[in-house]
Amino acid sequence: MTLVGDLSESELLARFVPLLGAPGAALVGPGDDCAVLSAPDGKVVVSTDVLVEDVHFRRAWSSAREVGRRAAAQNLADAAAVGAVPTGLVVSLVLPGELPAVWVEDLARGLDDACRPWGAGVVGGDLAGGPLVVLAVTVLGDLEGRAPVLRSGARPGDVVAHAGVRGRSAAGFALLDAGRADDARVPADVRAVVLDAFRVPSPPVGAGRAAAVAGATAMLDVSDGLLRDAGRIASASGVRLAFDDPADVLADEVALLSPVAAALGADATQWVLAGGEDHGMLATFPPGVALPDGFRTLGRVEELPTDGARVTVGGRAVRAGGGWDHFGPGKD
Ligand SMILES: [Mg+2]
Repeated sequence: MTLVGDLSESELLARFVPLLGAPGAALVGPGDDCAVLSAPDGKVVVSTDVLVEDVHFRRAWSSAREVGRRAAAQNLADAAAVGAVPTGLVVSLVLPGELPAVWVEDLARGLDDACRPWGAGVVGGDLAGGPLVVLAVTVLGDLEGRAPVLRSGARPGDVVAHAGVRGRSAAGFALLDAGRADDARVPADVRAVVLDAFRVPSPPVGAGRAAAVAGATAMLDVSDGLLRDAGRIASASGVRLAFDDPADVLADEVALLSPVAAALGADATQWVLAGGEDHGMLATFPPGVALPDGFRTLGRVEELPTDGARVTVGGRAVRAGGGWDHFGPGKD
């Protein structure tokens, strides 16, 4: 088996680069000192993210292809979250010499899997040796002439809506973390759904652009849990985000995760409201706007009362940090 340490940098690149599709925006792709991307809007959207082995992923839990898909997906979601169309990724890798070269090839395939549906792709990066795998991914995007959708634009009276899955990644992580990925008490199809959601998040990247076109007033992608990230919009906008009772608006999601929660003695509602890393789009829209496909209304934006909670669920205050207690104190 060929290891990374057996190859020169150019030999490794010769295996990696051909597996990456060229994005439509690339005027000059990998191979020169810089790539060149078109930026038709005249402004460039940029965001970056680092994934560290054993902190953000484990090689025992996820294949290289899954790690690549996940790394790309969470960056594509960041571009989408301001209403941009992702155009290219720059990916820098730290790789241990004892890593099989085929692992790096599969990583490239995973990056390409995630980018290809959106017309994006990897245009450059860097390689270095090190004691564990680190991926530093930068996404570039284009706003197509629109204003960016920021966290600060939510106004009282707006509708709170979300596109994407909720809580599935947290449920998948909990199964793996408990060493129960094969637990037969959880139906196999449910296990597959949640494990997949954790290993390979599938953000609704197109929903970000659609929300911007529809006039979304604020947006972000949910990386740290619905309630915690809702708190970020509320803080930036100086408003309250009031979620309806999950038993009314999220019953299907809670029901889906319930067999996993039952097997682990956990709380499916907590995963749906507070689970991270699903990377759905949480947005606010002016009242009366027809929500784009995939968005579901979860609540509304209210004036922030003096000393009141920034986020409520079914009328109950959510603690700072996004914790939510079914049986907690009543209204704030
Ligand atoms: Mg984000």
